[in-house]
Amino acid sequence: MLATVLHGKGDIRCDEVAEPKILKPTDAIIKLSASCVCGSDLWPYRGLQPTDGPSHMGHEYCGVVVEVGDAVKTVKPGQFVVGSFCISDNTCPHCRFGFQSSCEQREFMSGAQAPYARVPLADGTLVATAEMPSDDLIPSLLAASDVLGTGWYAADAARVQPGSTAVVVGDGAVGLMGVLAAKQMGAEKIIAMSRHKSRQDLALEFGATHIVSERGDDGVARIKELTGGVGAESVLECVGTQESMMQAMNCARPGGHIGFVGVPHGVQLDGQNLFFAQKSLMGGPAPVRRFLPYLMDLVLTRKINPGKVFDLEVPLADVAEGYRAMDERRAIKTLLRV
Ligand SMILES: [Zn+2]
Repeated sequence: MLATVLHGKGDIRCDEVAEPKILKPTDAIIKLSASCVCGSDLWPYRGLQPTDGPSHMGHEYCGVVVEVGDAVKTVKPGQFVVGSFCISDNTCPHCRFGFQSSCEQREFMSGAQAPYARVPLADGTLVATAEMPSDDLIPSLLAASDVLGTGWYAADAARVQPGSTAVVVGDGAVGLMGVLAAKQMGAEKIIAMSRHKSRQDLALEFGATHIVSERGDDGVARIKELTGGVGAESVLECVGTQESMMQAMNCARPGGHIGFVGVPHGVQLDGQNLFFAQKSLMGGPAPVRRFLPYLMDLVLTRKINPGKVFDLEVPLADVAEGYRAMDERRAIKTLLRV
């Protein structure tokens, strides 16, 4: 089959690779309904994250089960499933505590920018729908696999409450999903920090009440103006740079909560500043599996439409253009038709 392989900085190709096989009795093989490019795929694509030889890309997926290993009990061939980018057994102490992304058997999904993929720990990882979803829901169900679940976790970790104020730092797909999550959780004031018109428009559509285009000290000053001079109770950090982390820290009020889900690259925090700031930090890879049944239900009942975050759609064969468009910020998120 043809699948996406990253060979080095900026060198992404659609190569002939072997079809995935059941390797362990707990595996499932799925036929993907669609795949996509993640913002985090851009780190190795830009050469900012070392890779160990050619890598099979793709960790966001939904599709139909075609084969399961002997030990798989809960999913069956023919079922439509969505899974998290974090593979988990959903039975260990961390999973039962709601932190499936710290599962004792955690693996990270790979090789999903392809027509077929192997999903390890299928029983713990996959959630099946009752019936085959209609085609127009596929992008939204695919979003639940990572960006929606991650934006949701950012809002959850930032403890967004009904009537509260949430600031979202980052206008990538995850930041926009964070806006959607904060809206669903009942935040009254949702301030999206964004400098790009198309992303501002989508943020407003997803529920943002205010847009702040300033950054740094000016950005913090604007947030203070909008929050009675104190800062926000909840801040969602959805980028992962030193600048965005400082922006998030400085926009939160003392006693406030920061949910940080951008994978940190070169972020350093100062212990003394952290001590006197009196702000709580919770982040990490999102335990998407915790939220997945609920998020899938919101999508299937058409209460949310996170699939709107895909503003470019290309066939898998044109994956290089899909990456380029995101790298150059011409696209928010690329859907790959497989
Ligand atoms: Zn576990």
